Amino acid sequence: GPRVRFGPSPTGFLHLGGLRTALYNYIFAKKSQGTFILRLEDTDQNRLVPGAAEGIEDMLEWAGIPPDESPRRGGSVGPYLQSHRLELYRSASDVLLESGAAYRCFCSPQRLQLLKKEALRRQQTPRYDNRCRHLTPAEVAEKLSRGLDWVVRFRLEKGVQPFQDLVYGWSRHEVADVEGDPVILKGDGFPTYHLANVVDDHHMGISHVLRGTEWLTSTSKHLLLYRAFGWDPPQFGHLPLLLNRDGGKLSKRQGDIFVEHFAREGYLPEALLDIITNCGSGFPEKQMGRTLEELISQFEIGRITSHSALLDLEQLPEFNRVHLTRHIENEGLRQKLIKELRLLVEQVYGDQHVDPEVLEKEYVERVLLLRKGHISFLKNLVSSDYSYLWVRPSVSREQLQTVSAAVDEIGKLVLGLMTRQGGGLTMEELNKELRSIQKQTKETKYSSVMKLLRLALSGQQHGPSIAEMMVTLGPKEVCGRIHKALS
Ligand code: GLU
Repeated sequence: GPRVRFGPSPTGFLHLGGLRTALYNYIFAKKSQGTFILRLEDTDQNRLVPGAAEGIEDMLEWAGIPPDESPRRGGSVGPYLQSHRLELYRSASDVLLESGAAYRCFCSPQRLQLLKKEALRRQQTPRYDNRCRHLTPAEVAEKLSRGLDWVVRFRLEKGVQPFQDLVYGWSRHEVADVEGDPVILKGDGFPTYHLANVVDDHHMGISHVLRGTEWLTSTSKHLLLYRAFGWDPPQFGHLPLLLNRDGGKLSKRQGDIFVEHFAREGYLPEALLDIITNCGSGFPEKQMGRTLEELISQFEIGRITSHSALLDLEQLPEFNRVHLTRHIENEGLRQKLIKELRLLVEQVYGDQHVDPEVLEKEYVERVLLLRKGHISFLKNLVSSDYSYLWVRPSVSREQLQTVSAAVDEIGKLVLGLMTRQGGGLTMEELNKELRSIQKQTKETKYSSVMKLLRLALSGQQHGPSIAEMMVTLGPKEVCGRIHKALS
């Protein structure tokens, strides 16, 4: 199967753009029993952020798209951290020096600075003037003997071959016309992105490179490197821009776009994967609620278009609602939600002496099944609107009497019904019984009966239907609450 890689730089935490790249690689690999590799591109030692490498892999695992080979998991073509592969880049660079495809550049930082200034003064894009390309072997030997610092530059040849990008089609960028020869090995012995990327993709047996469109114009340069090494290049596919709702580039400045933020906020990973693929392309149709398995089976790389993808994060809660509903309906996933919800309840209401029965699995499960579709987040169920689920409300008799004078009469009728019927009533049957209770209290309106019961049972003015509340709480608790209200 294909071998693909996600190559983030650990210069920050995983954001939605990175997650999108990782996801498309993952889906592409899994569709054809391929391998998904995580390779950390930490060649810019000045920009490393402590914990970022760990965080990126953690978030891929959280999202349910773990790599098959990675710094943490290892694999047969490791190490998976570029800073641990310096020897490989150095010998690759030596090969190019040997063949003349690369050369040592001794230009001082001051000279390069001057070139830059000069270009900017003339309103041109700064580029290296390739001066050291033309040093003779004797000149090089002389500079080396003087102990001058040097870097290695790759000789950009004209006449790049077009390549067929899996998304953008035939592409070609005559890099030599617009850039000076790029540095491939720095003075500190670290490679630059371009060299490391090509060397690793080759040695790691990468068959397809799926990455952000910002790298499309670099690909011609990479192809020149492949040619200089005499290696077959992988296939390339560049993913279109990911834009925010207003059409701007999705960036860290526009609030939280880090995957960790969404994890902390209680989003389900499937909701994130779903919204990302729905705003992008690669699928026969837009459709909310796809699982990862469905994403894999429906994905077709040929359907990725080069149109920018608009990510409307305001829709994310709705995606979450749909996926939460699916989780609740699934027996196995529901068991996990039950555990999570009990934990949340203990966190939020623990000190208010939650009735231990309320935390029983059957009760929590009933809450989930009856509220499914109405909530976007599990944590909604521990908000103040739903506090009645976990703690008995304290409602005074005076409060109840402002709703209806028939407090005692209605209370007794409901108590009677509960003791007669036990727990066996469905919501439909309860609704019928409540109608008949109202008929027995002639002068009280149906809405007042409901309002009264709602207040007694939940301390709230709004919420689920009375029948649902009664089924959720169960007859014992309903009786307990009505007794308390009447006392
Ligand atoms: N390290 C590059 C990045 O952060 C990887 C680009 C690539 O996939 O080739 O985007």
